[in-house]
Amino acid sequence: MKQLKERILRDGKVFPGNVLKVGNFLNHMVDPALTLEMAREIVARFDGCQIDKVLTVEASGIPLAFAVACELGVPMLFAKKAQTKNVSQNVYTARVASFTHGRDYDLVVEKEYLSAHERILVVDDFLALGNALNGLFKICSSADVEVVGAAIAIEKGFQGGGDALRARGFRIESLAIIDSMSDGTVRFRN
Ligand code: 5GP
Repeated sequence: MKQLKERILRDGKVFPGNVLKVGNFLNHMVDPALTLEMAREIVARFDGCQIDKVLTVEASGIPLAFAVACELGVPMLFAKKAQTKNVSQNVYTARVASFTHGRDYDLVVEKEYLSAHERILVVDDFLALGNALNGLFKICSSADVEVVGAAIAIEKGFQGGGDALRARGFRIESLAIIDSMSDGTVRFRN
């Protein structure tokens, strides 16, 4: 998506460890106009997919997921990140290794908010190794819902998570796929 790529080139900062900081428009401060444009693009790509609910993970997936849910007129559900295994029987959980924070956490979703056979679109801000998406897909599988696909703002293609999920048959739509960030320069996949 042209606007997103231009914004990454303008405002994105490459940090050591293959981390791209985009906190001034995507995942700390949020640009509402760009977020709405991204949501419309996602909705267009998944046109006709009869989505019942949008699922994301707190915190930085929420603005884009909310915008997508508004455009679709469906509920948005976010998985919470719990630091403890001490959770109730009434939740689905999945353990996830965090790319940016270097430690594990549990994704937690109340069972009552996912009904069997619902059609779910997963949305997140970043896709790197695919751990967060794998966790969300695992929760979807436990809940016996149907995953229509995943929509991502920025995929770091060189880290392989997206292509591994595509190879497993998941539909992954990323608005900007970065193929390299060496020398601090962002290069996109065509
Ligand atoms: P994955 O689980 O696919 O390895 O990483 C996805 C999650 O890690 C996203 O939810 C995002 O919050 C975070 N993340 C991964 N890479 C980056 C990055 O380069 N920059 C930022 N800001 N977050 C990232």
